[in-house]
Amino acid sequence: MASAAGAETIIGMDGVNKWFGQFHVLKDINLHVARGERIVICGPSGSGKSTMIRCINRLEEHQKGSIVVNGVELSNDVKAVENIRREVGMVFQHFNLFPHLTVLENLTLAPLWVHKVPRRQAEATAMSYLERVRIPDQAKKYPGQLSGGQQQRVAIARSLCTNPKVMLFDEPTSALDPEMIKEVLDVMIELAETGMTMLCVTHEMGFARTVADRVIFMDQGEIVEENVPEEFFLNPQNERTRAFLGQIL
Ligand code: ADP
Ligand code: MG
Repeated sequence: MASAAGAETIIGMDGVNKWFGQFHVLKDINLHVARGERIVICGPSGSGKSTMIRCINRLEEHQKGSIVVNGVELSNDVKAVENIRREVGMVFQHFNLFPHLTVLENLTLAPLWVHKVPRRQAEATAMSYLERVRIPDQAKKYPGQLSGGQQQRVAIARSLCTNPKVMLFDEPTSALDPEMIKEVLDVMIELAETGMTMLCVTHEMGFARTVADRVIFMDQGEIVEENVPEEFFLNPQNERTRAFLGQIL
């Protein structure tokens, strides 16, 4: 399927709905992401941003509509879910590193035990990604010995070690002190420059302006507005978007 940009669609969400009990958290979500596209998702707290991106690697299940990732429709088929998780890396607000494993062990865990990569190769790959996020010297330390910004860069490197085709970021800088935000955003900008497909929930509007091909605004479980960054920021169409931007800019 072709997207607006003419490139191949890597994520297709059509008529996606989800409920938590009685609560309708995602309402008819339609979102098509082209390979290599960078999308920023913003919106008020509780609008369904995390739930939407968690549906893409099936950390949450949708109840209606379809989600196709890299040609595979998400269903209860365990093999399909395993395949998707292999293709889709995720970085969370609170890093989610294993505290009892060193940085290097965090990075090699999935390659060694899930993907059966030989140890020497797994460690070489891990070190190359630690170099890319500029902390190869921290490989033998434990997460608790690192700053928040360093831990988040480890989390990004860990995701990249399984060679994903898509990276999901859920407010990756929200838990960081201001002086550490830039070092994480710089790594994300470099990743974008490699052509990685990225969906980032973030309120870092400078990042959105620099990197995003499209900005999506969610409110109350709906995609209310989407546009290229210039138009989105300078000329928001929807009243709810204007109110939101008025609060954060
Ligand atoms: P956002 O990321 O935009 O802040 P979320 O996707 O986390 O929003 O949550 C959207 C809504 O769904 C919120 O009202 C939240 O309380 C609710 N919600 C999220 N996860 C669950 C859950 N596991 N069970 C019940 N309600 C949930
Ligand atoms: Mg969230």
